[in-house]
Amino acid sequence: MPAHEPAFNGPGDTSAAWVSNFVDGEFVEPDPGRSFDAVDPATGKVFAQVHEADGPLVDRAVNAARRALDQGWADTTVQERVALLRRVADGIERRFEDFVTAEVRDTGKPVTQARTLDVARAVQNFRAFADIVAAAGEESYLSELAGGRRALNYTVRKPLGVVAVIVPWNLPLLLLTWKVAPALACGNAVVVKPSEETPGTATLLAEVMREAGAPRGVYNVVHGFGGGSAGQFLTEHEGIDGVTFTGSSATGASVMRAVAPRVRPVSFELGGKNAAIVFDDVDVDEAVDGLARSVFTNTGQVCLCTERVYVQRRVFDEIADGLVRRAQGLRMADPWSETTTTGPLISQTHRAKVFDYMASAEQAGATVLTGGGVPAMGDLSGGSWIEPTLWTGLTNKDREVREEIFGPVAALIPFDTTEEAVTLANDTDYGLAAAVWTNDLRRGHDVAQRMRTGISWVNTWFTRELRSPFGGAGLSGIGREGGEHSLHFYTEPTNVCVQL
Ligand code: NAD
Repeated sequence: MPAHEPAFNGPGDTSAAWVSNFVDGEFVEPDPGRSFDAVDPATGKVFAQVHEADGPLVDRAVNAARRALDQGWADTTVQERVALLRRVADGIERRFEDFVTAEVRDTGKPVTQARTLDVARAVQNFRAFADIVAAAGEESYLSELAGGRRALNYTVRKPLGVVAVIVPWNLPLLLLTWKVAPALACGNAVVVKPSEETPGTATLLAEVMREAGAPRGVYNVVHGFGGGSAGQFLTEHEGIDGVTFTGSSATGASVMRAVAPRVRPVSFELGGKNAAIVFDDVDVDEAVDGLARSVFTNTGQVCLCTERVYVQRRVFDEIADGLVRRAQGLRMADPWSETTTTGPLISQTHRAKVFDYMASAEQAGATVLTGGGVPAMGDLSGGSWIEPTLWTGLTNKDREVREEIFGPVAALIPFDTTEEAVTLANDTDYGLAAAVWTNDLRRGHDVAQRMRTGISWVNTWFTRELRSPFGGAGLSGIGREGGEHSLHFYTEPTNVCVQL
């Protein structure tokens, strides 16, 4: 393998490897003077060097994407693009364990989760959007005009163009493919900027794209940070026709400012401070099962995770005890072990942020039901491990209940009436997700519909239908992706009006 090709070796491999940029169908020779460390969050050890893209390289990537469009990619048929998406899905499946390895190394997440969630969903994203674009139709209207004349209106959807795809580190491949699949399905070319924390799977996907026959320049990857680095160079580039971004609300605001002078469309999937509402008619064990998943999955690092749990007073203690038992039963260990349930946080920097909230929760008078510290991890003590933590005694006024923490933490707060629960859950600047737990379906529908969120679950969490709209209100985002909503964002419609 040439030095500049990304190397994805097996678990435990610590040999130095480069993670390279991919521009115009080629991996770019790395510049040792412009690189940063890839760190394994489970051990704190450096396992690779990532080549940071500078302004000229981002420029090359955007130009390559434009050339790909001009040289025919934008004019391919839906069938040709559907066929490519299916070959990409097959290619990820063929190299499934390589993707799992890259994802576990970058994130420290349990290998079982990388297999069943992250990489499995990446395959599904390509297949689902192949089906969605193949089945999509167009609007047409027959207008009745004066004098008995008529006009036919129909809509032609054309690719948006060069799309910047900027994604975070929590579900790197899943979130990347959620955007790349529909963008390519609609005939766009993409320049992807994965998170600096998790550059691996986006790079490996470049190999799959090439093997699957994606024309040069259709899929480009540039590595680096946000401000003053690849993220900023990309969003400020005049050759970008739109930005699809998943990340924090604060970064979303920066991206919006960057594209504002050129008035480019944005699709934003941002942060959350999601509520669960637990009514006292629930089956406690079932609700605790679901709540534990919603608080602790991916060490709380899913935008949809629950960080506020409102529990009707009669079952408050039972639910709290059940959740504490679940938190204490999580198995934090080597991510490569098949029995590990919970990995570390993504980085020491992120852990310091979560600890800051833990300290301020205690200062605010919270009772720590469980957690609050660092687990004893033996050989893995260099990793960014943290104990799953549950608080009582906080209210909606406290910052730990208002701000997104993005860790395995939740505040448990009692309520008495349905109205009170709805008011408490909606009392937030975010609006991504909510989950309602009740055996009274009428109440479930009612409360779920009253949530000011992009998605409301009843008696489940994280169950996703890729054809339905996904996104958030308030600080949680702008626009919706999923199914036809994605096709709308990634295309520019022209309405043609013909007088008959
Ligand atoms: P982040 O906003 O720090 O970074 C996201 C991406 O943006 C990274 O690739 C980063 O390098 C890049 N970036 C940072 N500053 C930039 C700038 N000025 N210009 C251009 N790019 C820039 O987010 P994160 O810490 O990586 O991820 C966690 C956040 O993502 C949480 O807030 C979480 O809720 C959110 N998230 C939302 C969803 C959703 O679907 N709504 C899904 C996953 C994560």
